[in-house]
Amino acid sequence: MHVVVIGGGVVGVTTAWELNRRGHQVTVLERHAIAGNETSKGNAAQRSYGVVYPWADPKMTFKALPWLLKQDGPLKLRVPPSLNAVRFMFSTLRYAWSPGLFGLNKRAMLRLGIHSQERFLKLEEELNLAFDGGHRGLLHLASTPEALEGYRSTQRTLNEMGIASRLLTPDQVYEAEPGMARNGPLSGALSYDTDGTGDCHLFSQELAKACESKGVSFRYKVEAERLTGSGQAVESVVFLDENGQQETLAADAFVVCAGCWSPELVRPLGLELPIYPVKGYSITVPLKNPDKAPFSTIHDDNYKVVSTRLGNRLRATGFVEMADFNRDIPEARIATIRKSVECRYPGCADLDAAETWTGFRPMTPDGPAIIGRGPRNNLYLNTGHGTFGWTLSAGSADVIAQVIDGEEPSVCLDAFRPGRYQE
Ligand SMILES: Cc1cc2nc3c(=O)[nH]c(=O)nc-3n(C[C@H](O)[C@H](O)[C@H](O)COP(=O)(O)OP(=O)(O)OC[C@H]3O[C@@H](n4cnc5c(N)ncnc54)[C@H](O)[C@@H]3O)c2cc1C
Repeated sequence: MHVVVIGGGVVGVTTAWELNRRGHQVTVLERHAIAGNETSKGNAAQRSYGVVYPWADPKMTFKALPWLLKQDGPLKLRVPPSLNAVRFMFSTLRYAWSPGLFGLNKRAMLRLGIHSQERFLKLEEELNLAFDGGHRGLLHLASTPEALEGYRSTQRTLNEMGIASRLLTPDQVYEAEPGMARNGPLSGALSYDTDGTGDCHLFSQELAKACESKGVSFRYKVEAERLTGSGQAVESVVFLDENGQQETLAADAFVVCAGCWSPELVRPLGLELPIYPVKGYSITVPLKNPDKAPFSTIHDDNYKVVSTRLGNRLRATGFVEMADFNRDIPEARIATIRKSVECRYPGCADLDAAETWTGFRPMTPDGPAIIGRGPRNNLYLNTGHGTFGWTLSAGSADVIAQVIDGEEPSVCLDAFRPGRYQE
């Protein structure tokens, strides 16, 4: 079968890999000149299989307002908010307060996380990709005793799902992460022992090269405009090519992996995808004193900043901002991220040399991504991965390929079904 994948972020590239592995002819259409150059570029670099959770969390609704009011708070809202932002927030609240939904969705995401880890391990065994990746665990610091108490209930769910984790005392944290300074509040941490890290941007490009070597065709600098067809099937995709000329490409099946830009492609076919671009920021900086840097990836709950070691670089990431597709990088946001790094890992890097980045998480209001058959028989969706697209990419690529081949997916996809917003 010839399958067209729209979008060459980490989700599109992993999908192309799985489809090619199953013997399909695959063409990827990507707007940028290289793979993984949008949201997959500067993310927090965590493959946090045990951490995945839906945003629509009843507990989160109580934390949101104080976070909004605090200057260094992690949640930001552009004033006045757009209609889309308001609609998204109300929708999230509605899902957060739907009885039992958070627990169901969290377990569904964790199951996909476990599957994704298995697929990553296989893929890394098979291909020798250079992406500064590893599986050395992840720490969630607790800056207060209450935060540590909250981690105890998280741990109960992890135990139930068979995911390895440990609660650490402050001394055990400093032992696990000897580079961390004894600055800042610390009551302990939750250690996700088998979680991983890796540069998603490098991974996407390396895997795209591996795909090309197996015959996958990548069309870069092209923009998919619309899907055409009659009745219950999509026949072709119309796109603007490298020279701005319109081209039409026919195929047997189509997979939309266009992240935040997916809704426009399927709306004309009658499916409304409520994906909202939730903005975040990162800095990436070469290490000058690696002994003072984190060993793996650390979530500092004090500033809500994640710091991850990527070879001889440090990536630090923060903020959840509702500002639509605004790409500005305000100095105040970067200053907060720097403050967290300076507090926990002073002197590890020359922060003035940091490369700054902003990107948009393709968030759904309930939390799970959108994975499955779309509004036509041969149209499939693997999109809306929000905060966890890097983590879940290998697993979601495998299950969408199973769906396309008419097989029972390895993970139950009920929580991810594309039509759920119209039910
Ligand atoms: C600050 C921040 C930190 C994050 N940290 C983590 C983390 O630590 N771990 C984790 O798992 N996830 C993290 N994420 C989320 C993760 O980065 C995303 O979920 C993931 O990158 C989404 O991948 P994607 O391929 O779906 O989307 P994208 O990477 O955005 O790819 C979509 C691609 O489609 C292309 N495209 C769109 N429309 C068209 C069109 N019409 N024609 C052609 N091409 C098109 C785009 O150019 C783009 O390359 C973070 C995100 C942010 C913003």
